[in-house]
Amino acid sequence: MSTVAEADLAALFHPYTNLVKHPETGPMVITRGQGVRVYDEAGKEYIEGLAGLWCTTLGWGEERLAEVAAAQMRELPFYHLFSSKAHTPGVRLAEALKALAPVSDSKVFLACSGSEANDTAIKMIWYRNNALGRPQKKKIISRERAYHGVTVATGSLTGLPVNQRGFDLPIERILHTGCPHYWRYGEKGESEEQFATRRAEELEKLILAEGPDTVAAFFAEPVMGAGGVIVPPKGYFEKIQAVLKKYDVLLVADEVITGFGRTGNMFGCDTFGIRPDMMTVAKALSSGYLPISALIVSGEVFEPIKAQSGEIGSFGHGLTYGGHPVPAAVALETLKIYAERDIVGHVRKVAPVLQDGLRALQQHPLVGEARGLGLIGALELVADKDTKTAFDPKLAVGARVVAKAQAHGVILRAMGDAVAFAPPLVIEADDIRLLLERFRLALDEAHGELVAAGAV
Ligand code: PMP
Repeated sequence: MSTVAEADLAALFHPYTNLVKHPETGPMVITRGQGVRVYDEAGKEYIEGLAGLWCTTLGWGEERLAEVAAAQMRELPFYHLFSSKAHTPGVRLAEALKALAPVSDSKVFLACSGSEANDTAIKMIWYRNNALGRPQKKKIISRERAYHGVTVATGSLTGLPVNQRGFDLPIERILHTGCPHYWRYGEKGESEEQFATRRAEELEKLILAEGPDTVAAFFAEPVMGAGGVIVPPKGYFEKIQAVLKKYDVLLVADEVITGFGRTGNMFGCDTFGIRPDMMTVAKALSSGYLPISALIVSGEVFEPIKAQSGEIGSFGHGLTYGGHPVPAAVALETLKIYAERDIVGHVRKVAPVLQDGLRALQQHPLVGEARGLGLIGALELVADKDTKTAFDPKLAVGARVVAKAQAHGVILRAMGDAVAFAPPLVIEADDIRLLLERFRLALDEAHGELVAAGAV
């Protein structure tokens, strides 16, 4: 029989991978996990500094989730929510999310992934505006460096070249406005507040140029994740919301990364004073143990959709596995654990260890900016700190540092030359310190190499 690595090369088409390089490097096969650690085939231990893909909030080996999944598998391994059918985990999960999320008079639609929840949001927005007799009000505005998924429509919302180049995206009706990264895009002498005002004015100009009667919605992650962990500048969302309100443009908050404690509040919307019309959650909803997502819509969004479905005969959208009883039961248990263990309180307690540690690394010659809040952060690596000059992308500095960190026993992710940190929310202070120590070694080694190569 072939080894897993051999079978991988022969059979598996990897997502988000350089498919030319992959056969050279081979796969990194992870075999098990416990707490904030995972282990590879050789038994080597790693601290998972990105909680998998920002999702494994409770860490690995949470027995309660395994037990609940097994029990639900035995009781009712499948049922659906189409044509008025219901099952207890799906209904109770909707009830719990309705109570938790800052969306008024809400209804909860269940799906399987972040992309599906956002894709569903787009379809609901279009359906609703048809119902309201304004079929021309369909354009959706997203932001450069946003990440909202990879389906045809959500991959269009995503504002990263790698997701669009070669895929013939974005599709029509999807527009992008500027990224709220003050350190990178703020002009000389411009305050954070002035930068936020400029971004809001740009949004207003775009809406006016397109025609307010053609613009339906604005999508935003409270903290941009895959775009490099961008924390918005002071006052940004307040100013953006004022513009959206003025032109009757819905606000969709994508809380797929920020939901359930990551920013030090239950939702990123709470942290930044965002009052969304629609909100999407996934990842931490089940601590990543099973695929599930939710779209939470306000009563105002729901009512016209409801009326239209009556006229057409059905709301013609749904996913076979949307709200599947097993992931729904696991999600419900996850929410229970968050409450019992006061996950938000824990994040607030340990966040300073991560945030101060990242800020301390700002002294390092490779680090241009340290940013973040709660248990999410990033270090931006630059060739020149004073001028903020980026490295030549060919040097792949971010990827190089991340590879070295991996050798030292920390798994992280580079987005260009920004290295992201988002460990499981249950991480303790000592492990955060160890993670940062290991990362520091990688940074020093990479620096040594870059100096030797004359790149810095
Ligand atoms: N929105 C955000 C903010 C995300 O970070 C992601 C995934 N990284 C998605 C949507 C898409 O989720 P999925 O990969 O589950 O489709």
